[in-house]
Amino acid sequence: MTAVIRTVADLRATVAAWRRNGETIGLVPTMGALHDGHLSLAAHSRADNKRTIATLFVNPTQFGPKEDLAAYPRDEAADLAKLQAANVDALYAPSVGEMYPQGFATTVTVAGLTDHLDGPHRPGHFAGVATVVSKLLLQATPDRAYFGEKDFQQLRVIRRMAADLDIPVRIVGVPTVREADRLALSSRNRYLSAEDRAHAAALPRMLADIAGRLSREPGAVARETAWGFRQLEDAGFRKIDYIEVCDEATLQPTRQVTAPSRVFAAAWLGRTRLIDNWEIGAA
Ligand code: AMP
Repeated sequence: MTAVIRTVADLRATVAAWRRNGETIGLVPTMGALHDGHLSLAAHSRADNKRTIATLFVNPTQFGPKEDLAAYPRDEAADLAKLQAANVDALYAPSVGEMYPQGFATTVTVAGLTDHLDGPHRPGHFAGVATVVSKLLLQATPDRAYFGEKDFQQLRVIRRMAADLDIPVRIVGVPTVREADRLALSSRNRYLSAEDRAHAAALPRMLADIAGRLSREPGAVARETAWGFRQLEDAGFRKIDYIEVCDEATLQPTRQVTAPSRVFAAAWLGRTRLIDNWEIGAA
């Protein structure tokens, strides 16, 4: 049975009982609308820890004023059924009031890693993420916490935040789960019309093609990203926030691939913003 927990006090009591038995704990933070990407994080946690807690919290502070907070898909019963089938021990689904009681006034910001990519396009987003994940880690005190490489910048920001704040947790990155046509699974894919869904695969195709060519020709970053823009425009993406090649460690853009790097993109199909990234393998 997957226990449903609503309060910090109940979460701490559950965790304390497990700790008394010497059990290890993995945490899988999500915003719900669970898909196989989330379940892959849960499977990794189950493999590494005795107990796994998934969290479901649509965090208002990480959405911008023009973003899709109100429309974000919510179906807790369906999510719980999936966690149950995946043998997850607990679902922690606090209310907004439990997470942000009256008087709440603290924000965690991470500098540098948020200068590029989604940072400038989603002001306040990473502060919202870093703040809520700090709280979840301090509430649950897991041994390990699991985050998807699909949101690679988020993974890096959280790893930095946990290290800087001396939160005793291991942040584990999990490879992106993709559909047959390589579109990364995302809760937001369900917003896509059938026509847009058919065009969406141009995004991972473009990233994989660029990553392949840059592994052989590391100096061709400008040419390849310009090509990428044309690919997405031809596929019907209406706005491209960025296509950028960044160093994996610093997330600073690079014109020449010398250290481990990734190609990152964010672009809009209809009213849906898709993000993805692809590792550039060594030639
Ligand atoms: P979200 O519910 O979209 O905030 O995502 C919760 C966690 O699941 C984050 O760590 C995401 O990076 C991760 N995630 C989302 N989509 C995928 C995917 N396709 N493959 C692996 N992890 C994912």
